[in-house]
Parts: sequence; structure tokens; C-alpha cells
Amino acid sequence: MVKKTWLAALALVVVGVIAVQAACGAVISIVSPEEGARVKGEVELRATVALGSGEEIEGPVAQTIDGCRIPLVRGGDGLYSGTIDTAKLPNGRQTLMVLATPKGRDERRDGYADAAWGGEKFISIVEVAVVVRNPYHHYWGDIHAHTSYSDGAWYPKEAYEYARDAAELDFFAVTDHLEILTMEEYADVVAQAHAADEPGRFVALYGVERTREETGHINFYMSPTHILPTDLNDFFRAIGRMGLLAHFNHPTMEPTKGGERHNDFQQFRYDPAADECMAMVELRSPEEEECYIAMLDSGWHVGAVGDQDKHSPTWGDGPTWTVALARELTREGILDALRSRRTYSSADRNLRLDFTFDGEDMGSRIARPAGEYACTVTVSDPDADGVVQRVDLFLDGEVVRTA
Ligand SMILES: [Zn+2]
Ligand SMILES: [Zn+2]
Repeated sequence: MVKKTWLAALALVVVGVIAVQAACGAVISIVSPEEGARVKGEVELRATVALGSGEEIEGPVAQTIDGCRIPLVRGGDGLYSGTIDTAKLPNGRQTLMVLATPKGRDERRDGYADAAWGGEKFISIVEVAVVVRNPYHHYWGDIHAHTSYSDGAWYPKEAYEYARDAAELDFFAVTDHLEILTMEEYADVVAQAHAADEPGRFVALYGVERTREETGHINFYMSPTHILPTDLNDFFRAIGRMGLLAHFNHPTMEPTKGGERHNDFQQFRYDPAADECMAMVELRSPEEEECYIAMLDSGWHVGAVGDQDKHSPTWGDGPTWTVALARELTREGILDALRSRRTYSSADRNLRLDFTFDGEDMGSRIARPAGEYACTVTVSDPDADGVVQRVDLFLDGEVVRTA
């Protein structure tokens, strides 16, 4: 197990408890967790509430970003406390809040209408910012595969079963070529994926490979139709409008097939209409790595995947895989991981990689003032210790740190 932490003088903001004094007189202070604390699993939130004379409050309640309200109970020490399950919150910076309402006021009924607009608030609110970090599961899969419905072998039913039972993948997608796939065949791919899907054991996704030699091959997933525009710009607009998940296939810097196939998607030109949808790019060789960096430089936000593009009936057998970091092995969990760019490409069947930047997930888009932040890379290979020789950290396409 290799564990490297680049700890870069995290600007430690010492914030005491933030207290809010509202017109009703209730002063709430959050005692724990502390501002900036890293939390996971169940966390006890504790707060004090000081009341003005004759003042009584309802609650107080803790509130989180998922809309959950947890009543806080007063203990013998005078502190109000309640348990928050942080596993229900996204990883990264989150705000926990405590609210108190004076007794006899109904915040919804009395609301802001007659009092707050007049300058008198009756709800006391205090918040604390924490960093939530709950672990993900690492799931192995392959979301680029062909059957006899285009230029591969056998049928989708057999492909899903092979990937699940023989290759023992966690997730898999059949993605036959759009240009030679019929409506009936696509309907069968979708039906076979539904039949093979087994939440908790195997996630079966389905997709299509758009195969245009002049601009490049692109897979898109879970689409109600397999027919989309052939022109690349129209295609980008269509998937953006439909909110489809998609990925760039086998990119190349130079044309292949005697100059006839251009897998650079118009010189990797950035298209804001499709940026959210184009979540991944295949990265399985030094040339694909060069393309990956060129795409990031041009503005795309893409995660790396290691799909196999099998045309023979050995789906999922390697030599590379896509690893998705997900909370659970369900379609929702895997699609969330793919859309959020929590993926990596691996030529090892069980190498685990975790990466965070200032407490945020792999794949996050974050905005921070210029400064120094902690970046953590954890790599572990359960069956071959020491096989990881080097970890390179890239910034703007250049290696800035090697460990
Ligand atoms: Zn292709
Ligand atoms: Zn293909």
C-alpha cells in the first residue's frame, strides 16, 4: 500500500462558534462539529441555545443540504444534540444548520410576510461548514462492447451474461454501432440490459456507438433513441438538450486508417453545449493520454475510462477496465459516478485509486481562491504489493509532483 499525502499548509481558519442573535432573543451556538471538521458516518451535532427572558422556542432542529430536519434533544448538560447521517450527504464542503423558532410562531404560516419584511425576524439560524468524506466502493466495469448486432459476435443477452458471470464485472454496457443497428435490435439491447440488471450484484447499462470516420467515435448511454444527428456539432447540441451521458472513444492525435479516420473530434474543440454530457474519454495508452491532456486543455471536463471495445465474445476479460467510485452498485449509483467523473482507467483488475483535492471528490469542479491546498492520492493493490512504482501529479498537462 502506497499512501502519499501532499499536505500543503492548509489555510487553517480558526473560527470560533458563530452565533446569530435574532430579534426573538434566542442565541444558538454550535459546539460540535467544529468549523472545518472532516466528518463521516454518523455525527453528533451539539448546540447551546440561550434565550431572552420569558422567551420560549420550538425545536431547535438541525438541517442539512438533503432537506433532512433532525430534532435536537436537550440533555442533562443543557446542550441540545442530534445525530446526522453524513452518508446521505455528498462528499466535500457542506453546511450544517441549526434553526430555532420562538414558541407560538409558525414559521410557515407567520413566515416572512408580516414580520421579516418589517425588520423583525423570528427565526434564529446558525451554521457550521464541515468537510464530508465518506468512502466510496470501487466497481469494475466496461461500457464499450459489441455484439453481432454490429461488427461483434453473439447476442446482447450472451454478452451481459458473460460480463456478469464469467468476467465477473460489476457493471457493463453493450454499445453496438449506430449506423448498422436496427430499431428492433436496439430494443432488444435495452430489454436484455433490463433483464440482466441485478442491483447489488451487477449493473447492466446500454448504449450506442456513433461511428463517424470524419470526426470520431462517441458512445452515448441510456438513450430513448439510437438515432441522433450525424454532424458532430448537431450531435453535441442533441445530447446536451437530452442530457445524455456520453464518452469519447479511442481518441488519436493523428488520422488513422490511411488518413481516413479522424478520432480527434474536430481537433478536440470544446463545445459548451455538450461539456456536461461528455463525461469520459478512453485512456489506455500513451497516445490516448496525450489526447486526454489535449482535451482537458481545450476545456472539456472528462474522466478517464479503460473500456475494452470488445468485438469478440470475451467481454470484460481485459486487458483494461473502467473503475467507478460509487456509493452503491445500482444503475443510479453507477450512472452518478460516471456523470460525476469519479472514474479511472486501470490495467490492473483490483488496483484501488483514491484522489481528493482540498477534501473534494475525484472529478469535482471546484472554485477556490489561489493558494495551497491538500491533495491526497491513495493507491493500493491488494494482490501485488509494491507493483505501484510511481505516482505522478499533473497540473495543466505537466507533472508537478512525483512520489
Ligand atoms: Zn469505435
Ligand atoms: Zn467500438
